[in-house]
Amino acid sequence: MLKCFMCDEKNKTEEAVSICIVCGMGLCMEHARRADLEIWEGHYPMPVKTMENDLPRFLCEYCIEATYIATD
Ligand SMILES: [Zn+2]
Ligand SMILES: [Zn+2]
Repeated sequence: MLKCFMCDEKNKTEEAVSICIVCGMGLCMEHARRADLEIWEGHYPMPVKTMENDLPRFLCEYCIEATYIATD
């Protein structure tokens, strides 16, 4: 089973329900951040072309932060 990377950093074990579309780390419900469409409108600050389907897009907190900084 895929584990949440951010929980793992805190020595917790939580099953991942999604993965970050940018860095690919496993994320549990608590740590997954829904990437709202407005973040991605216009230009893509990072290569995120790896999505195969129209699955909900999730980002980890690190990549959300990096994205906001990049688009600011
Ligand atoms: Zn977690
Ligand atoms: Zn990430």
